[in-house]
Amino acid sequence: MRYQDKVVVVTGGANGIGKAIAKAYQEEGATVIVADIVKPSEESVHFYKTDVSNPSDINRLFAYIKEQYDQLDILINNAGISSFGDFYDISLEEWDRVLNTNLRSVFLCSQQAARIMRQQANGGSLVHIASTRAFMSEANTESYAASKGGIFALTHALAMTLQEDHITSNAISPGWIQNTNYEKLREIDHEQHPSKRVGKPEDVARACLFLTDPANNFINGENFVIDGGMTRKMIYEH
Ligand code: NAD
Repeated sequence: MRYQDKVVVVTGGANGIGKAIAKAYQEEGATVIVADIVKPSEESVHFYKTDVSNPSDINRLFAYIKEQYDQLDILINNAGISSFGDFYDISLEEWDRVLNTNLRSVFLCSQQAARIMRQQANGGSLVHIASTRAFMSEANTESYAASKGGIFALTHALAMTLQEDHITSNAISPGWIQNTNYEKLREIDHEQHPSKRVGKPEDVARACLFLTDPANNFINGENFVIDGGMTRKMIYEH
């Protein structure tokens, strides 16, 4: 029960990786608020309906956290959408949809969360879920890759800005992780993977618990790659 008495917000926590993250904190005793566009099937987590691409929704979410709990220890910026397709066909609307959901939301949620955390003697922790696709040069991934690459830059800047308020800011870059669209991952030849398996949402959840443990608060501005060695293998092979 390492996280007893802690208040944790997980964006996109109704499914996939976010669901595992929410469950992991709950099992450690935390009060977990899932901020998602869909209601989680898990009845024991608190749910606050939030579209992170909508700044008004974000304002409402953190006003609710302040009023209801007057405390926030951990924010996991996990909500995200993927978007792949021919570079020449990417519309401005699609670019904005991906960047607003995956990157602008991380800025806005972090700003709102830090306003609460900086009032606390123990500060808090921010974790942003990026992706190995941000640095694994793949064709026709421009909007998604840019949104996730932007998260790295934001992670570093926030780490510097917020250190005097005892708030840490770290990123996690998952590789192939089973999620709600797992059918797509079944097409991948698992034998090509150095770990002979794709990742589980719980692999990412454990990394979150590690990064937000107050005993590990000397880790700041980092990016944890959770990919079973896949990135290393690809760099080596090319
Ligand atoms: P998922 O589609 O299984 O779950 C995403 C969750 O986010 C859903 O509950 C969805 O309702 C919610 N969501 C979507 N748009 C939202 C919005 N506008 N506001 C609030 N909630 C919203 O996806 P996942 O695989 O669990 O991905 C979680 C995060 O991990 C994403 O940021 C994704 O880019 C990242 N990621 C995933 C993988 C992977 O292989 N699964 C790899 C690298 C990075």
